[in-house]
Amino acid sequence: MKVLVAVKRVVDYNVKVRVRSDGSGVDVANVKMSMNPFDEIAVEEAVRMKETGVATEVIVVSCGVTQCQETLRTAMAIGADRAILVESAEDLQPLAVAKILKALVDKEQPSLVILGKQAIDDDSNQTGQMLAALAGLPQATFAAKVVVSDGKATVSREVDGGSETLSLTLPAVVTTDLRLNEPRYVTLPNIMKAKKKPLETIKPADLGVDVAPRLKTLRVVEPPKRSAGAMVPDVKALVEKLKTEAKVL
Ligand code: AMP
Repeated sequence: MKVLVAVKRVVDYNVKVRVRSDGSGVDVANVKMSMNPFDEIAVEEAVRMKETGVATEVIVVSCGVTQCQETLRTAMAIGADRAILVESAEDLQPLAVAKILKALVDKEQPSLVILGKQAIDDDSNQTGQMLAALAGLPQATFAAKVVVSDGKATVSREVDGGSETLSLTLPAVVTTDLRLNEPRYVTLPNIMKAKKKPLETIKPADLGVDVAPRLKTLRVVEPPKRSAGAMVPDVKALVEKLKTEAKVL
């Protein structure tokens, strides 16, 4: 069984992002970039499937600038077998990425496609769902557990007030939630091995995909600054302030 995993290069989650002075977006110049954390979980899950004999090949794909190669090498250091970079200098919106992935699903015919539930830069939470719709595949989003057997994937997902279990006929699309697994640390020998694994670079046009943006960002602003706090001498004064000033009691 082939597993295709989508990995996005995003601003590292430890970085405090700055908004560009013209409000056109976030400044990514000289900022540390990493694999989207949900995608690390997706790669880990696929590699575990290979290690337990459920999967035979794990292919990772990233869409974006040349530097996405680094993200793909990290995915191969976790254990993916080969990588595809769909290179584009333009910012790709979720619909464009979903169309690219649909073309790759047609080409590679994976039994399972695993994506993160959302990319931490745009927080769109759209690509997996759009891919499933475009490819006509069943989908289970926010997976907390995935078991594959007999041509089916059984997926548990956390929902408000409990857990829901779905059965999907393969091929299918799954998006990962935080609880699915804890990704391993990549080791130096595996980083070295990953350098020798195959990485193919193609363009969206090679797949016949139109990646022109369908949305326009009007404005990006920093969150409002928090106003300074005030010290109160005792609990009585605090309760008084909560009653008379904050009016929450
Ligand atoms: P989003 O819909 O943008 O929140 O992204 C959801 C998931 O889609 C991510 O966790 C990735 O698995 C995948 N994805 C989104 N953008 C890209 C990209 N440029 N390259 C590869 N995978 C992507």
